[in-house]
Amino acid sequence: MAYFNISFDNASVAIVTGGESGIGRATAIKLGRAGVPVVLGYLSDSVAANEAASTIVDGGGKAAAVRADVSDEQAVEALFHFAEQRFGKVDLLVNSAGLNMSGVMLRDMALAQFDRMIRVDLYGPFLSCRRMVRALESAGRGGRIVNVSSIHERAPRPGGADYDAAKGGLAQLTATLALELAPKHIAVNGIAPGMILTPMNQSALDNPQELQRKEAAIPWGRAGMPEEVADLILFLLSPTADYITGTTVTIDGALSLTAAQGA
Ligand code: NAP
Repeated sequence: MAYFNISFDNASVAIVTGGESGIGRATAIKLGRAGVPVVLGYLSDSVAANEAASTIVDGGGKAAAVRADVSDEQAVEALFHFAEQRFGKVDLLVNSAGLNMSGVMLRDMALAQFDRMIRVDLYGPFLSCRRMVRALESAGRGGRIVNVSSIHERAPRPGGADYDAAKGGLAQLTATLALELAPKHIAVNGIAPGMILTPMNQSALDNPQELQRKEAAIPWGRAGMPEEVADLILFLLSPTADYITGTTVTIDGALSLTAAQGA
């Protein structure tokens, strides 16, 4: 028996960045199936992006794919402008686009590497959130944002200075924006996934031994699936989660709780 139903306002319109792959793709497809018109932002893979949008349209939903580098202010403006012209005011935003850690120790890290990471994983959500809330505030409407962070926003790894700094910054961006926007009923939350089987973990997907070794370190005994993360995102975007704002929800099979064991 279902405990609650996740349904959305008929007027809702969503943008999902990184919508052609992994967590973003799974989220866009579930939103589309839930009846929300979705614009999928993508960077390089137009075939995958259009295939994901077609999956939604073929299922009776509304969707379109738009190329938009989230670190580019004008591209983010064009992404929102397209969504507004095609479907209406955007009141649901998922910032899923992101790069993985470089694996380079800070002393060897080029400024360009650090800069690129901050631009995509931190400026990207900044630009998308800012564009969305400006439009919503001028229309006097509420809305909901989910920023896809990582357990590494708090659990650092050697070689992850770029990624960990970007996601740590994203946690504070999420919390600060939630405080600013609570009176307007625009909710801002983060999610912190652990190991999820998407192209970001392609080496583990391609190598059964690596996957087994990494899954053995997860207390739940397995990696997560993008659809499981998408279900959490849909809940946080839905009216059912109305009173939840300013928090980051961890979804990691208890992986992050294993830090500092054996001390
Ligand atoms: P993914 O399948 O690689 O998706 C990431 C997407 O971001 C790709 O479609 C990529 O497009 C896009 N992207 C990269 N740079 C971009 C840019 N400048 N503008 C627009 N799009 C850009 O990986 P994922 O696992 O779904 O990752 C989604 C989010 O989850 C990321 O923010 C990641 O940090 C976070 N996360 C993932 C895991 C995990 O284990 N998978 C764990 C914790 C957090 P291209 O392929 O064209 O570059």
